[in-house]
Amino acid sequence: MNDTLFQKAVPLLERLEQAGYEAYFVGGCVRDYYLGRSISDIDIATSALPEEVKEIFPNTVDVGIEHGTVLVLHNGEGYEVTTFRAESDYKDFRRPEKVVFIRSLYEDLKRRDFTMNAMAMDRTGRVVDPFNGKEAIRHRQIVTVGKAEERFSEDALRMMRAARFASQLGFDLEDGVFTAICRNAGLMQHIAVERKRNEFEKLISGRFRKKGLKLLLETGLYIYLPGLESNKKELEKMLTIVCTSLTLQQMWLLIAVLVSGDKPVEFLKAWKLPSKTIKYLLSGLTWMKKRRETPWTQWDVYDAGLSVAVDVEKVHSVLYQDEDMTEQIQTLYENLPIKHRKELSVNGHDLCMWFQKKPGPWLRACLEEIEKAVLDQKTKNEKEKIKEWLKRCNRL
Ligand code: ATP
Ligand code: MG
Repeated sequence: MNDTLFQKAVPLLERLEQAGYEAYFVGGCVRDYYLGRSISDIDIATSALPEEVKEIFPNTVDVGIEHGTVLVLHNGEGYEVTTFRAESDYKDFRRPEKVVFIRSLYEDLKRRDFTMNAMAMDRTGRVVDPFNGKEAIRHRQIVTVGKAEERFSEDALRMMRAARFASQLGFDLEDGVFTAICRNAGLMQHIAVERKRNEFEKLISGRFRKKGLKLLLETGLYIYLPGLESNKKELEKMLTIVCTSLTLQQMWLLIAVLVSGDKPVEFLKAWKLPSKTIKYLLSGLTWMKKRRETPWTQWDVYDAGLSVAVDVEKVHSVLYQDEDMTEQIQTLYENLPIKHRKELSVNGHDLCMWFQKKPGPWLRACLEEIEKAVLDQKTKNEKEKIKEWLKRCNRL
C-alpha cells in the first residue's frame, strides 16, 4: 500500500487500535485502490462506537451520528469514521432508518451492496475480502454480496447503483444480477427521488455512461425514473450520441432536450433539481432552439452569458453533429465591451440628475438604450462619453 492518501490516514487507524478497537479502510477507496483509479475520499470503519470515536479524537463533527458516522478532522482533512453496523428490518424496499452498531467487521462487510465494495484494508495494507471482491474486480464484474434478489428487495436503490458502477467502471453485471434487476425493477417506485437522482447523476457522468444508460433501458429501470418512463425511443437515441465529453450540466441539458418535450419545467421539477439549476437549464433549452435557427451573435452571447452559451453549443454540436463553435463564442465574449449590465458606468441616479427627472419607466428604457449603444460600440462605456452620446442623439 503506497498511496499517499492512505498513508496520511494511517495514524487514525493506529490511534483507534491503540485504544483497543479495530479499524480499517473500507468501501470505495479499497475498491478504487485495486482498480488503480484515483481515490476520491477515504472511509474508515471501526468497532468503536461514535461516542468512543469522539473521545479519542479532539476534532470531530457529527455528520451522521445516527448512522454511526463521525467526521474526524486530521491535518486539515476530514475522514468519515463509521462504526461497524448491521442493517436489519428493511421496510418498504428502502434502506432502513434504524441501524444496529456491532463489533464485527465481517457483519459490517456483509451488509454492503457489491463484493467489490465489501473489502476492508488494515493499516499495514492487509486486505480482508470475505466475499471475493478482488476476484470480481479482476473479472470486471458487479456481483452482489449474497443473493441478488434478496439484496435488491431490501434496498431497491442498489439496482440503480449497479448501473451507475457499470457506468463509472465499465464493469459488466453478473448474469444473476442482471436478471434480478429485470425482475425487481418495479421496486424502484418506493425509492425517494433524491436518492435516485444522486445515482443517476453519477451514472450520466461516468466514463462508460453509454453502458450505464443501456443497462437502464435493458433492465427497465428507466421506467421508474422521473420523466423517462415513456421515452424509450429518445433514450435509445442517446445511445447513438457521442456524449462522453459532456459535463453533468450539459448531460442534463441533452436529456431535457431529448425527453422533456413541451413540459420542461415539470420534467426538471420531477427530478427535484435545485431551483437555480432548473432556471439555468430552462434558459439553456431556450437557447438550444435559437441556436438551431441562427448562429451566435455577440448580443446572444451577452444575453445568454458565457456559461449557458458554451453548454448549449457543446450539446448542440454532439446532438446535431454540427461544428463546435465554442472557440468563436469565447472570442465573441472576450470582445464584449461589457459582460453584464452591472458594468455600465452610468446608473439610474446619474440619469435622473442629467435629465432632471424623477425615476419612472423611462429610466429603464433609457438604461437599456445605453446598454445597447455600448454593446454596439456607438459609445465608450465612460460617463462623459455616454453623456456626449445622449446629447448627440438629441436625448439630452
Ligand atoms: P464513490 O467513489 O462514488 O463514493 P462508494 O463505493 O464510496 O463510491 P458510496 O455511495 O459513497 O459509494 O458508499 C460507500 C460504501 O457504502 C459503498 O462502497 C458500499 O460498501 C456501502 N453502500 C453504500 N450504499 C449502499 C447501499 N444502498 N446498500 C449497501 N451498501 C451500500
Ligand atoms: Mg464514497
